Amino acid sequence: MSQTAMSETYDFLFKFLVIGNAGTGKSCLLHQFIENKFKDDSNHTIGVEFGSKIINVGGKYVKLQIWDTAGQERFRSVTRSYYRGAAGALLVYDITSRETYNALTNWLTDARMLASQSIVIILCGNKKDLDPDREVTFLEASRFAQENELMFLETSALTGENVEEAFVQCARKILNKIESGELDPERMGSGIQYGDAALRQLRSPRRAQAPSAQDCGC
Ligand code: GDP
Ligand code: MG
Repeated sequence: MSQTAMSETYDFLFKFLVIGNAGTGKSCLLHQFIENKFKDDSNHTIGVEFGSKIINVGGKYVKLQIWDTAGQERFRSVTRSYYRGAAGALLVYDITSRETYNALTNWLTDARMLASQSIVIILCGNKKDLDPDREVTFLEASRFAQENELMFLETSALTGENVEEAFVQCARKILNKIESGELDPERMGSGIQYGDAALRQLRSPRRAQAPSAQDCGC
């Protein structure tokens, strides 16, 4: 398969969100993941609000469509529509700011209320490179993650450490849930779509017989 064909073919598309207090590094994490470089402050253009990238997870190609709050969180106005139909989320705090860690409970409540019930969330303790200024220990954050059924990593959007891993681990968990039947990609608002590659494999008799919109009479 040619490079171009490869880059346009994927098995699944997952909608992802990046949430957490302003200043924790959400836009930088997205930028680092998409562009493989740190977004420095000299770049005053409005933050990327959206990015997408295809990753390989255990042999499956997954296109991640990632939404950034684009500054809405500064006004505590992250809307219901932002959360709608998301399959996964990075919940970000800053390891040098206890205030951003204390806010996690509120973010979780909103995510669980406003996003899909089965949203898979990975907790990211960002700015790992600023260890001397740390206000939140790895241990307490991992306990919090465990109690709240979240995956957990410390990341650095500056050095790139664990950035790709955070997205990949979250995607892997979603794929596992699809494979185990715990998650149904066809349910409305799942935040998951089949890509061309998966559709080709799915030409099963059951699908062929599914009534078309014209036949159903509704
Ligand atoms: P957002 O408001 O959550 O989108 O945060 P930004 O991505 O705009 O980042 C807020 C500030 O933190 C900026 O000054 C970034 O340069 C800085 N920053 C973001 N990520 C990191 C990181 O991993 N390490 C360090 N040292 N600084 C970071
Ligand atoms: Mg931002």
